[in-house]
Amino acid sequence: MNIILLGLPGAGKGTQAKVIIENQRIPHISTGDLFRKAVKDKTELGLLANEYMSKGELVPDEVTIGIALQRLNNVDCLEGFLLDGFPRNIVQAQALEKHLASEAKKIDLAIYVEVDENILLGRATGRRICSGCGQTFHLTSKPPKVIDRCDSCNEILIQREDDREETVRER
Ligand code: AMP
Repeated sequence: MNIILLGLPGAGKGTQAKVIIENQRIPHISTGDLFRKAVKDKTELGLLANEYMSKGELVPDEVTIGIALQRLNNVDCLEGFLLDGFPRNIVQAQALEKHLASEAKKIDLAIYVEVDENILLGRATGRRICSGCGQTFHLTSKPPKVIDRCDSCNEILIQREDDREETVRER
């Protein structure tokens, strides 16, 4: 099954994605995660993507489309995929549709995760990510046992640059 998850940043697409794919043999593909890994690894793509991500802007379509479609060619996508954060605009949607059509495939399901904007702002600005293992916490709804430290690996918790209030509003 080929699924796309849509929704504003912080709507919980990542959380829902884990539940949706639980009993399915399809990968969860988040373009945001792909970019964050590239930033962490300091690759050329990461350096470029970070220029946009840190300001809450979209990474240019030609770069994003290239990354997403390349990922879809991976063998683990043969039985389907769950796309999270892609497509984000019409150009990307058309590129995806064209790519799938060339392989006689299509999107089977599109899920829109709808959440009020004020709730989203609180969620994003309170979110903290472990700099070691990537686990997610929230200052009020899921605080770590020790302040600013990950419950699992004890690494320091950080706020994603694009989770700051101004950036969230822009996103
Ligand atoms: P996300 O984790 O989905 O909120 O994505 C984090 C950041 O990665 C976004 O704010 C964008 O800068 C970039 N990004 C992720 N997906 C896309 C996309 N489909 N198009 C352009 N930029 C993207």
